[in-house]
Amino acid sequence: MKIGFIGVGNMGGPMCRNIVRNTNHQVVVFDLNPDAAAACTALGASAAASVAALAAECDVILTSLPMPSHVEAVALGADGIAAHARAGSTYIDLSTNAPETARKVAAAMAARGIAMLEAPVSGGTARAEAGTIVIMVGGETQGFEAQRPLLASFSAEQVHVGEVGMGSTAKLINNMLAFCNAAAAAEALALGAAAGIDMKKLYDVISNASGDSPQFRKVAQTGFAGDFSATFALDLAHKDLRLALAMADGLGVPGMIAPQVMTLMRIARAAGYGGQDSAAVLRVYEDALRRPIGR
Ligand code: NAD
Repeated sequence: MKIGFIGVGNMGGPMCRNIVRNTNHQVVVFDLNPDAAAACTALGASAAASVAALAAECDVILTSLPMPSHVEAVALGADGIAAHARAGSTYIDLSTNAPETARKVAAAMAARGIAMLEAPVSGGTARAEAGTIVIMVGGETQGFEAQRPLLASFSAEQVHVGEVGMGSTAKLINNMLAFCNAAAAAEALALGAAAGIDMKKLYDVISNASGDSPQFRKVAQTGFAGDFSATFALDLAHKDLRLALAMADGLGVPGMIAPQVMTLMRIARAAGYGGQDSAAVLRVYEDALRRPIGR
């Protein structure tokens, strides 16, 4: 089969390279950033000149793009996938998206005879490199089973959550919980720094105690190293939380904690940290304390 991959950045890059490494499929890439594409062609993928050219020649087309607006433009634009992919091909969106955008795109694809799975992923860039991410899939069972070997070539777990829209729903709920954990971890670390405790010792305690979580470890390790360069940009985390809060609002679920985390993210972005890693919520506390935390 010929596999097309559009958007080979922090997450798409390693996922695409694992398809190249772990399957015999021909892989074609397209990215607006030539360096991102080059990291895949160096391994044996070929580069397409445009989304339209890639879509026309591939049996399965995957995207991993930042915002719902990017997905809509690439999927449904005049030069996009729906307009140029062959009937009978499959489109898989790995981006974190709004459920309603996923449903809109799937309906437009279906009208052109293109099957669609929405398949957001979780695990971060290290697990994407290792091929151990989890994929939560919305779409028809038959389509899921047909594409499962491809998905398994770059992930450890593939969970078929339900129809199109349910993959995004699962992803947004997961990320809302993860960001709440990250914000709580940042606040705990700030309290530790203010109290004058040895921060490495505090880390050793919490990482072996009931306050431990993957987000605690990530925020602490990122902060202690003082390297906030993005593996998962705060701007993308803000997008995810915005979509989760919109979902909660639409469903009438009262928000107690996540809206506070949104305020923390807004302060972080206003301070100029949006392009940094999502762990940069810690920097809001560093600014309040007027000192670095754990370094
Ligand atoms: P990224 O910004 O690193 O990568 C996105 C890539 O898409 C970039 O290389 C960019 O040049 C390319 N791109 C943008 N518009 C394009 C277009 N019109 N045509 C072709 N290429 C285009 O972002 P990322 O961190 O890899 O995130 C991608 C998606 O995965 C997002 O929806 C994000 O929320 C989600 N996600 C990210 C992580 C993470 O840890 N980084 C984890 C899980 C999910």
